[in-house]
Amino acid sequence: MTLFTNAVESIQIGVEDLSKNDDRRVLSAVRNVHAGVLLLCKEKLRRLSPDDEILLAQRFEPQPNDKGEVAIEGVGRNTVGADDIKKRFKTFHVALDWKRFDGMADIRHHMEHSYFKGSRKRARQAVADAFLVIRQLLVEALQEDPLKTLGPECWTALLENADLFAAELQACQVTLKSVRWDTEAAARALPDFACPSCRSSLVRQRDPNNKSQPNAALICAACGESAELGPVLSLAFDETFGAQGHIAVKDGGEPPISTCPECSEETYVVKEGRCAACDFTLPEDAACAICGSGLSAEDYYEHDGLCSYHAHVASKDD
Ligand SMILES: [Zn+2]
Ligand SMILES: [Zn+2]
Ligand SMILES: [Zn+2]
Repeated sequence: MTLFTNAVESIQIGVEDLSKNDDRRVLSAVRNVHAGVLLLCKEKLRRLSPDDEILLAQRFEPQPNDKGEVAIEGVGRNTVGADDIKKRFKTFHVALDWKRFDGMADIRHHMEHSYFKGSRKRARQAVADAFLVIRQLLVEALQEDPLKTLGPECWTALLENADLFAAELQACQVTLKSVRWDTEAAARALPDFACPSCRSSLVRQRDPNNKSQPNAALICAACGESAELGPVLSLAFDETFGAQGHIAVKDGGEPPISTCPECSEETYVVKEGRCAACDFTLPEDAACAICGSGLSAEDYYEHDGLCSYHAHVASKDD
């Protein structure tokens, strides 16, 4: 069996697993579809290789060949893993939706390592992510027709799953959009809300009619766990503002989000001077009582209204 047929069959079996009304096959659905996606990536690397499948090897080294010339040869039996696939795709300018690629792997990982495995909703998201990656791989990278390659049954099931997931996600997001969030940052991060227990995006308000942030109780529609706002926002901010934060730090600037001195979550919004998760606020005129210099949230909270220098001096006087 070729690598390509192997990939296609893995995806077909996974989709079949998901369509069976059997919770025991939910994990196997995610595993098979994920394996199929990795195999499609490998097929692309195989096609990019000159004639020896060299790009599938995890490691290669220069070796002398029969004619005494230098040849690059694969070493060992290991084939590329997800990290190498990413690196090689980037090197060879093959575009792929890495956010969804990672999202799908993340859900698989959480499903495999948690006690509660049988949630169709949870699997739906992984397969919906996979669907977009599969389409991109087939159409753009491999120039194959998805309908012909996967067969009408599998392709239609993937489309329907994506629609179902989109509808579930929409229903959850509506309950979050009706809240008057205390910070703009939280409102902006809504599309990135995810369950801290299972990483599903199906986070919703318990009471869809509630409008106030302090009364908002969140629950995950995929695993059924209730979710604290702090960890949910912390995860979401990492997605929404993470890249911006890395750039700011690299340029010696201040990241948009920092640790809240009161609740210790990564939810303090620097620009807005307040924490998005708890009620900690930095007064606008927060300044050192001795030298008058502006205070960071941390100084204000930890040093009783003194800058770190004067807090240090004061502690010596005691
Ligand atoms: Zn969950
Ligand atoms: Zn806080
Ligand atoms: Zn001072």
